[in-house]
Amino acid sequence: MRTHTKETQATLTPSDALKYLHEGNYRFVNNLKSNRNLLQQVNETRDGQFPFATILSCIDSRTSAELVFDQGLGDIFSIRIAGNIINEDILGSMEFACKIAGSKLIVVLGHSKCGAIKGACDNVQLGNLSTLLNKIQPSVYFEREIVEDRTSSNGEFVNNVAHIQVKRSVEAIIERSMILREMIAEKKIGVIGAFYDVETGTVEFMEDTFMFGEIKHVYLAVDGELTTGKETEETTAATAG
Ligand SMILES: [Zn+2]
Repeated sequence: MRTHTKETQATLTPSDALKYLHEGNYRFVNNLKSNRNLLQQVNETRDGQFPFATILSCIDSRTSAELVFDQGLGDIFSIRIAGNIINEDILGSMEFACKIAGSKLIVVLGHSKCGAIKGACDNVQLGNLSTLLNKIQPSVYFEREIVEDRTSSNGEFVNNVAHIQVKRSVEAIIERSMILREMIAEKKIGVIGAFYDVETGTVEFMEDTFMFGEIKHVYLAVDGELTTGKETEETTAATAG
């Protein structure tokens, strides 16, 4: 497996980047790890890095992006924080990764059985963790399918909230970063949500969250259903104002 160079990175499209991650996860799940010499990659990346994708995942010890997508040194920017939340510092990291360092695709990777999501479901209060979990609370609120046992002991509830959290993070990227939103609209980068299953090692890409060229929004409908809608000039004006 070759290390990415300025030339290979420059010719890649967001769809190519997505394909590489698909293939990498296929290798991971089938135990077909690429033959790569990490020490050699240290040498090859000593003068610069040209990662093709940027992945926001949880700190969970089972969701290391380099491992689950079978990537080596210099291949991906890896941003990790509990519950794959978005804040200004994370948006700044993504802007660096895409605008300055040439990364072509942003992936928000949620996962099953997430402790941070469970903590938010149970409204856990603990020091600075409370501040972080508060950022996941709207995802708990937006979950409207489950009526009984809306706690971490209900696996289906936790799973629904985790999926909503991924969509909210994707939405936050286009809502809160003018730079990234413009790059998506201009087809310079793509963004997509994905979900990792800690029981099988499989990553499922959430196709309805993929944006490349067209800006879509994740809305909460009156009946509580999460739907995506295309951006019109009216909504653009509303969100810009
Ligand atoms: Zn987690």
